[in-house]
Amino acid sequence: MAKRIQIARHGGPEELQWVDFEPGEPHADEVQVANKAIGINYIDTYVRSGLYPAPTLPSGIGTEAAGVVIRVGSDVTAIKPGDRVVYAQSPLGAYSEVHNVHQDKVALLPDAISFEQAAASFLKGLTVHYLLRQTYEVQPDEIFLFHAAAGGVGLIACQWAKALGAHLIGTVGSAEKALLAKERGAWATINYREEDIARRVSELTNGNKVRVVYDSVGKATWEASLDCLQRRGLMVSFGNASGPVTGVNLAILNQKGSLYLTRPSLNGYITTRDELQRASNDLFSMIASGAIKVEVPENQRFPLREAQRAHSTLESRSTQGSSLLIPD
Ligand code: NDP
Repeated sequence: MAKRIQIARHGGPEELQWVDFEPGEPHADEVQVANKAIGINYIDTYVRSGLYPAPTLPSGIGTEAAGVVIRVGSDVTAIKPGDRVVYAQSPLGAYSEVHNVHQDKVALLPDAISFEQAAASFLKGLTVHYLLRQTYEVQPDEIFLFHAAAGGVGLIACQWAKALGAHLIGTVGSAEKALLAKERGAWATINYREEDIARRVSELTNGNKVRVVYDSVGKATWEASLDCLQRRGLMVSFGNASGPVTGVNLAILNQKGSLYLTRPSLNGYITTRDELQRASNDLFSMIASGAIKVEVPENQRFPLREAQRAHSTLESRSTQGSSLLIPD
């Protein structure tokens, strides 16, 4: 018997229940991992609330963790018991002491990277990798807009942009977050609780605006983001922290300057073991070289059983960078 966080129905943080469960034997193509550190991602709040409903209820929750392999299925050859690993995009259930995961979602962890660093950066770093290197290849000296720059994904984006020699303008919700984003490599910041986003982007670019906007805030920033784009620019809408963008009249893309729009997800970029391996190698070398630092503030390391408090804190917009759940 192990312990995990489970939801029996969709709703607020109070629906995250600490229960006994039986993980069962791993399937032939699965590995069983004893989690040492579990990544908290905003997407977990969408699953909990029902914005992205769980396929069945009751359900585990969470899709990312780092730990030690304890058992492997009969078809698994590249991973063995005792290996240090990290995984993302697992079936729901990573908020757990033990989790069975398909081998194609698991990467071997280099010795230089701790479990906590890995769980705080894997899903988020792979996301930044595809956004800045594949969805649109940001160029040295290019100025672009990235929302929620002091969040988990955001702080990694600030550092990756700096390493590329690109100029990231980051939106943030407080002066303290602005300082942190700048410290991690943002070229400029906009406090979107106080400043007009499109006006500031125009000022910062001498009226040129930007070719690409990465927007994970969703509903609250949708229109302002389009207003920051140059003619034929690309809007990358990749999250819903303020609520989903719905009811869009496509003519708005024409009206705002023949814009392009994409709504990507990590699943669409990492589907094979090979894709996972290549992207994680890039991410791990950025971390090992020190170009990307992953530090989790002490007050954002929550005991696994306190997932309710962790979700309330994340949704209150008071966190900076990544947060973790730590099994006992
Ligand atoms: P964050 O740590 O970035 O937390 C979300 C942040 O969004 C908050 O800290 C807050 O920062 C900002 N925010 C703006 N408006 C609101 C609002 N109304 N309510 C709550 N927060 C708000 O989370 P993650 O790093 O885990 O994820 C960032 C985003 O990226 C999420 O939207 C997530 O869904 C998306 N994502 C998408 C992926 C994909 O492949 N499509 C993969 C991974 C993440 P501030 O106070 O500065 O405004």
